[in-house]
Amino acid sequence: MKKINIKNDEEDYYIGKIVCVGRNYTDHIIELGNEIPEKPLLFLKPSSAIIFSGQNIKYPSFSQEMHHEVELVLLIGEDLSNADENESGKAIAGYAVGLDMTLRDIQNELKKKGHPWTMAKCFDTSAILSDFVSSKDYKITLAEEISLSVNGKIRQKEKLSLMIYKPAQLVQYISTIMKLERGDLIFTGTPAGVGKVNKGDTLHAEIQGVAELFCNVE
Ligand code: ZN
Repeated sequence: MKKINIKNDEEDYYIGKIVCVGRNYTDHIIELGNEIPEKPLLFLKPSSAIIFSGQNIKYPSFSQEMHHEVELVLLIGEDLSNADENESGKAIAGYAVGLDMTLRDIQNELKKKGHPWTMAKCFDTSAILSDFVSSKDYKITLAEEISLSVNGKIRQKEKLSLMIYKPAQLVQYISTIMKLERGDLIFTGTPAGVGKVNKGDTLHAEIQGVAELFCNVE
């Protein structure tokens, strides 16, 4: 099992499941021609997909179009079922910036057929994490800016406040669908500006004042 260490938190967290939220920023929904969902759109990634800042993203042989999606990532600190919003907010133990790498060509085929997104979202190295900051040390305001650059050029840049469903709302909603356990991660969706990456690219993701990560595509 993969472990997360958080500065100023003596406890270890072993990563469990990864719950991802799709279509959580209006501009991104429009750029992909999707409809605004009535409830958060959820899918899962396996923990085997995780790498950390400084490691390389590997282009899968079965895709020609891997996209970057930069996202705020929440770490769940305690088990939670059918929680209210207050409990849900308190259950967030830490924050990181992450990349939800997506095989857009494969995803578009799957969407046409009405099939699940597993092949487009769960490949090795498709979930990249920065270090986490403890929610004891940092109170997120959502005024922070999230950004991603490829080879030094900004591709995605947005205020976290533009998320349709906010962190505690997402945790609350997910806890009514499935039990959340200590060590689970939630990828909270990406703003507009997603696009293709190529072998040899260097990616830099950041949430202002919270976390940053670097990785190369090979
Ligand atoms: Zn995503």
